[in-house]
Amino acid sequence: MASQSPTPQHAAKPSGRQPGRHFLHIPGPTNVPDRVLRAIDNAILDQRGPAFGKFSLALQEKVRRVFKTTQPVIMFPSSGSGAWEAALVNTLSPGDAVLMCRVGWFATLWYEMARRLGLEPILIETDWRRGADVEAIAEQLRRDGAHRIKAVCMVHNETSTGVTSRVDEVRAAMDAAGHPALLMVDTISSLASIDYRHDEWKVDVCIGGSQKGLMLPAGLSFTAVSAKALAAQKTARLPRAYWDWQAMLDNNATGYFPYTPATNLFYGLDVAIDMLEEEGLDNVFARHDRHAEATRRAVRAWGLETQCAEPRHYSSTVTAVRVPDGHSADALRASILERSNMSLGNGLGPLKDKVFRIGHLGDLGDLQMIGVLGGVEIGLRQCGIPHKPGGVQAAVDFLAGNA
Ligand SMILES: *Cc1c(COP(=O)(O)O)cnc(C)c1O
Repeated sequence: MASQSPTPQHAAKPSGRQPGRHFLHIPGPTNVPDRVLRAIDNAILDQRGPAFGKFSLALQEKVRRVFKTTQPVIMFPSSGSGAWEAALVNTLSPGDAVLMCRVGWFATLWYEMARRLGLEPILIETDWRRGADVEAIAEQLRRDGAHRIKAVCMVHNETSTGVTSRVDEVRAAMDAAGHPALLMVDTISSLASIDYRHDEWKVDVCIGGSQKGLMLPAGLSFTAVSAKALAAQKTARLPRAYWDWQAMLDNNATGYFPYTPATNLFYGLDVAIDMLEEEGLDNVFARHDRHAEATRRAVRAWGLETQCAEPRHYSSTVTAVRVPDGHSADALRASILERSNMSLGNGLGPLKDKVFRIGHLGDLGDLQMIGVLGGVEIGLRQCGIPHKPGGVQAAVDFLAGNA
């Protein structure tokens, strides 16, 4: 049948095969560049042999540059959550108070972990539409003359809401209060995408993961530790075995590990950091800022709202977009997956079905960004979600003026 214009069935019928590349735009795991995949696809090294020790020592040095630290960075074969647990059990004792800011779903998970480990979290609540409340943190610290609070835990970039909190401001509040608590920061969805300065901001424990800004598969966690955090190990009484930092540090000093490291992910990490440094970390950060701004301009042009309501806290790696009341963000995502072969992030916890999340982090160029926004605009139209056209155009206009 040779019709002039395709019938709706012709235009939209899902076939068994979806042509073209899948667009993976959840905020992690992110797309792994071919160069990194090729590096991972290599013969396994003997993790106790001489070649590995040399390689791993050089790699440890490289990883420190990503954190902007000269202090140790521990690499567990684990997802990011493992490093959360390690941070708590290596530095704290049962019943210790920890100050935590519940800025979203990941902050909530860390809080729940702290409770399950027998700590006593003091929660600072937010409306999940802005970053950590620095004034509320300062107030809690000023009131804690007895120094019961042993750690302040914050999520640098809250992936469930697209909100970035100010680590430098939290540090300044702690200094102003003269409070000796440890500062612990989760940078799982900001490391290597949004500026982070471990030494300059005097962070004691910083946690990262491989599968977001570092453009690797999941399976490696990172923990940058300060001398103060290492000293806290000596008196911390929470039980630890697999997550013991000291066993890692002792072995890492000569390039080795207490148990089998994820050797092939290390090959990938080595190349991923080369790629970041070839582009230049500052350029990588600027690229993420631009893509985030292009995304927000599209959202605004559609007449929709971002979950983050505070411009100072806009995330450069993920944008959560609210769908109008009475509409389903999950139905929109399902439609976009089926029609446009693109995965977007879902709403987590209380935001389930209310927001969808556009991940714009990792290995990403302008044209891919425009494609992502095009897929969203098609989906909005096909799902009958009230919006204005022109979001993609707004992003094109912005990117054209900001090459
Ligand atoms: C992804 C993420 C986590 C969880 O990391 P896993 O690797 O899935 O354990 C924690 N915190 C933040 C901010 C994240 O984005």
